[in-house]
Amino acid sequence: MRRLVALSGWGVKGPACFLLEMAGRRVLLDLGEGPEAGRRPHLGGVPKVDAILVSHGHADHVGALDLASEVGDPPVYATAPVRALGDARLKAARDLPIGGSTVIAGLEIETGPAGHAPGAVWLRIGGPQGLLYTGDYSAESALFPCAPPPPASALVCDASYGDAEEPLDRQILDLVERARRRPLLLPAPPAGRALEMALAFQRAGVPVALCAVTRAVARTLAAHPAAAVPALRDWPAELLETTAELTADSRPAGAMIVAGAQAERGLSAELTQRFAASGEADIVFTGHVAEGSAAERLLASGQAVLRRWNVHPNRDGLRALVAAVRPSVMLPAFLPHARMGALQTLFPELRIVTDQPGFSCEFKLAEA
Ligand SMILES: [Zn+2]
Repeated sequence: MRRLVALSGWGVKGPACFLLEMAGRRVLLDLGEGPEAGRRPHLGGVPKVDAILVSHGHADHVGALDLASEVGDPPVYATAPVRALGDARLKAARDLPIGGSTVIAGLEIETGPAGHAPGAVWLRIGGPQGLLYTGDYSAESALFPCAPPPPASALVCDASYGDAEEPLDRQILDLVERARRRPLLLPAPPAGRALEMALAFQRAGVPVALCAVTRAVARTLAAHPAAAVPALRDWPAELLETTAELTADSRPAGAMIVAGAQAERGLSAELTQRFAASGEADIVFTGHVAEGSAAERLLASGQAVLRRWNVHPNRDGLRALVAAVRPSVMLPAFLPHARMGALQTLFPELRIVTDQPGFSCEFKLAEA
């Protein structure tokens, strides 16, 4: 019996949690919370699982790990950078390689770098006849390494952007142009695109300032060279030496990158309020805007703008993923139901799981 159940993360931009049953074993792929505050998977009725495999450390993939006790408190596996940047629960996790093969709970597991965030990986479970889970994936990052995944008969794919076409290069050009005209405040996830942005602005000659939280992530990255592409392994340390620390009373200039993508609290909330009131800098959000967040209110009132920075595959990225994995069935994850039809049009030859109503879905994998 080989079966995948999307407990969460299918049909909406919701927290990742997939249950895989294979060779008499059960594993959970991620156990997240968000991006909307308090949105968590329901584990009721899920039997004891043998392991939890973590793709990367963002809250919508790991934020509900405290629910592990509901499924028998199995061991959690995560890569070294994810453990280093995580909370106590993640720090205590067992090692998952960033690239290579291992056996977990008796299952053959292969991993490779997935771009997107420090230590992010895709996972193939059960070899070529098994399942490929991309986690969150982006081949466009200049900083985080990404290797195309190998073939698998089923693909659970990061489809957060649906069939959106715009490439990251064009988004960067636009943001650099804006930063040359006016100082920009960029609230961003520190263990995500914050450092990619710092790299892009620095390369364009725009002065960069980083908040203390983002600087701490750069220090962790400096200690985990495998989390950056080979040419940039010394760059996080250089970044710390060559950039100013962003504080609540910093003079507005260049690209000011602050941890806190929804501007809910801390320095991100303080600076967005300051610049919304004074107009000394433009506030630019670049990712998913959570319902009911401060970011949503600032955008609705015209005090901030939204300009996406790709950290998930666009249309070309999805094409490249499908060409690499060559699945017979694909489950597009993290995408609202209403937008799934566009993917079936994009991949007419593929069986795409789109039709089940409701919040979760289930499909059987081909028998090996
Ligand atoms: Zn992520």
